[in-house]
Amino acid sequence: MKKKEEKSEEGIVRFLDAATVSGVYSVKTGYAVLIQQLPAQTADPFWKTLWSLPLQPKWKLFLWKLLHNGLAIKSELHRQGVPIQDVSCDLCGAQTEDFNHLFRECRIARAAWRGGCLNIHSQLHGYHSISDWIQYYIRLLISQDGISSSNISTFVGTLWALWLFRNNRVFNPDTPVIQPVGLYIFSILQTHIVFMDTDTTTTISPSSTIQEGLPPPGFHVAHLGISRTGTLFVQLQIDGAWYKDTRHAGIGWCVDNANPLDDRIIGGSNFGLCTSALHSEALAFLYALQWASDCHIHSARLFSDSYNLVTLLRGDGRGDIGILWLVQQIQCLGSTFQHCEIYKADRNRVHRAHQIAGEAAVLFIRFNSTML
Ligand SMILES: [Zn+2]
Repeated sequence: MKKKEEKSEEGIVRFLDAATVSGVYSVKTGYAVLIQQLPAQTADPFWKTLWSLPLQPKWKLFLWKLLHNGLAIKSELHRQGVPIQDVSCDLCGAQTEDFNHLFRECRIARAAWRGGCLNIHSQLHGYHSISDWIQYYIRLLISQDGISSSNISTFVGTLWALWLFRNNRVFNPDTPVIQPVGLYIFSILQTHIVFMDTDTTTTISPSSTIQEGLPPPGFHVAHLGISRTGTLFVQLQIDGAWYKDTRHAGIGWCVDNANPLDDRIIGGSNFGLCTSALHSEALAFLYALQWASDCHIHSARLFSDSYNLVTLLRGDGRGDIGILWLVQQIQCLGSTFQHCEIYKADRNRVHRAHQIAGEAAVLFIRFNSTML
């Protein structure tokens, strides 16, 4: 019986691959075939949950293929007897391209996971197969936030973006995507949120943060710069810490570090008295932008865990007069940058800045390190 099921899955993968090549395949038809022909799997609670996730059908199809070794990965093709001369990874050139390498261990994949909102160490957890690793994270994210968790779309979207990023490198070696992988993932996730907002056929549960009007982390953004498009960004984390009883505040900012083993902090901190947490967060933005300007940074992407401040910077919210004055200063300074994007992110995305701000508030630390 098990053998029959495996054969059936294999057949579907072949059908989907063949249909893709012949040009008559569309994602929707492939997805429909998949749903109809997998009664044994859809009975499994994990797969039932997987199909009900608020994700684009093509993402679910991709995920299904990935979890069944159904993607045309070089080492897999080689194993199946396809004559491939070079099985090395096209992204780093250093290792054999297999599932674990491409999606977890390659330096590009590691940077993508560590630099994203989820801040995942993709080499941790000793799962041997990529399937076990993916299922572990999907189960974990569902247990934390439910099936409508924006973190699940970020997780699956990162896998999808890595696959597209790799395909672009393999199939268009002369004109590869020149964006850093982090920015590429951002653009993929933004496309997804637009799709989910406009696709009325997609079911989103009532508990979805999208329906409540709060976009998921990474999608609430204020653009302050001259232009909205660009590729070469310096990414900064920003945070303010405020103690209500003493009104002591600390602020911190730092450049995202691509190398997790490098402990150097490029950024700064300051301290003082503030009237609210929002006040300290706004001051952190002002100091960080001034610092970036002094460092001759022309394109900056800033991450903050303050939804309210990003809302104010978008010109959408209300605040007291003191905060509004600060917001105006930030908007004014931001408008001198070529690109200046400010994203609402998860707390763990600004973890380092949070630490700096906390220490600045308690230990009265003021420092400033330059880019060079
Ligand atoms: Zn690689």
